[in-house]
Amino acid sequence: MTILASLSQIISDPSCMEDYDPNAMSVQDARLYIRQFLSPITATETVPVMQSLGRVLAVDITSPSNVPNHHNSAMDGYAFKFFDVNKVLSIVGTAFAGKPFTGEVNAQECVKIMTGGVIPAGADTVVMQERVDINEKSIRINIAPKLGENIRPAGDDLKIGQVVLNKGHLLRPADLGLVASLGLADLTVYKPLKVAFFSTGDELISVGKPLKEGQIYDSNRYTLFGMLSRLGVAISDLGVVPDNPDLLEATLLNAASENDVVMTTGGVSVGEADYMKMLLTKHGQVLFWKINMKPGRPLAYGKIQGRNGQFAHYFGLPGNPVATMVSFYQFVREALITLMGSAAKPLPMFKVECTEAIKKATGRTEFQRALLYEDAGIWKVKPLPNQSSGVLSSMSAANCFIVLDDTVGNCASNTMVSVQLLEGII
Ligand code: AMP
Ligand code: MG
Repeated sequence: MTILASLSQIISDPSCMEDYDPNAMSVQDARLYIRQFLSPITATETVPVMQSLGRVLAVDITSPSNVPNHHNSAMDGYAFKFFDVNKVLSIVGTAFAGKPFTGEVNAQECVKIMTGGVIPAGADTVVMQERVDINEKSIRINIAPKLGENIRPAGDDLKIGQVVLNKGHLLRPADLGLVASLGLADLTVYKPLKVAFFSTGDELISVGKPLKEGQIYDSNRYTLFGMLSRLGVAISDLGVVPDNPDLLEATLLNAASENDVVMTTGGVSVGEADYMKMLLTKHGQVLFWKINMKPGRPLAYGKIQGRNGQFAHYFGLPGNPVATMVSFYQFVREALITLMGSAAKPLPMFKVECTEAIKKATGRTEFQRALLYEDAGIWKVKPLPNQSSGVLSSMSAANCFIVLDDTVGNCASNTMVSVQLLEGII
């Protein structure tokens, strides 16, 4: 699919796009549509390495030195000249990590060396201490190493001038250690993406207040808060806004004026008589879709103009709590990573045997909440019993999605299904 139209063109003349059907949008096409309108953040700031976790590098990091910067021992043992491997070697000194032996190793000599110790001048091989017989001030080698064995060469990890991490890299724990190993104290990263969200609906009550007849507690703001916190964006929680057009309009415009992204849940179903749709149309360019997926059919994406004339990206997520989360994971997550200045990679998927039968219609993608579990040493998966899009406990109990694409119909038990993990290694 090639998409060349602007948001306003698609809104004013949907037929300008071949195959554009807002009421039957595939998951893949929705991702592609959203992707082409994303303009990543450009402002940068410099932060200490320990504050850079989850942030996106705004420059390439080049190694200012070799890491390690000297040949060093991989073992506790003795450094010697390989051509002396069969001779008695007298111990002429010791090289500790951080305290090198400053002399030279000559013929029929060796230096006792610790792991990480600098290889002394003249030595070309290290023998492990377990493989020698020690006789007071000399050793004899029992099991000979190969020439050069147990020596970690300078630059083994990183070479001087090498690009270590690329601009656009999302910083993970190993990266923090890696840049510290170069001696860098600060990193230039993109400024945090500012994301605001609010819930809409007269039935919604914030926690801490008693429920009246017909009311429910607003849970979507809490799951959104959790997912956004993991992404490391700057969060503004704008609360619950009742179905009052003036309050909704003021909240929407404030949010768009002060943020890069605005997100709401509920009230974006196609055909729903609702103030939100009217306001989104009035103040922005927003596409309303029905996605061929379950859960999470209604989705709105576009841009909203704030009071200052700036446009913020807008995501209107379905109100049902599970649908909110699934839509966030499948559309919003990768869009936000792109806006943060990184290249979002698709979530890993792998095939696992499903030990229960699944009923499913073709023509839509399903994201079933499921449990990966170990059975006699083999990992298998089974869907959780209640797949209703309002049942948040199924999402809490799940550790993965079973992803069944639109070509897949009913699955007998013991078929292989695609699985997407909900948690990664920290
Ligand atoms: P809507 O998309 O507004 O039609 O809402 C669909 C369903 O999700 C309704 O049952 C709403 O009550 C429920 N819902 C909407 N927003 C929330 C929320 N923030 N927290 C919990 N449930 C919600
Ligand atoms: Mg509603």
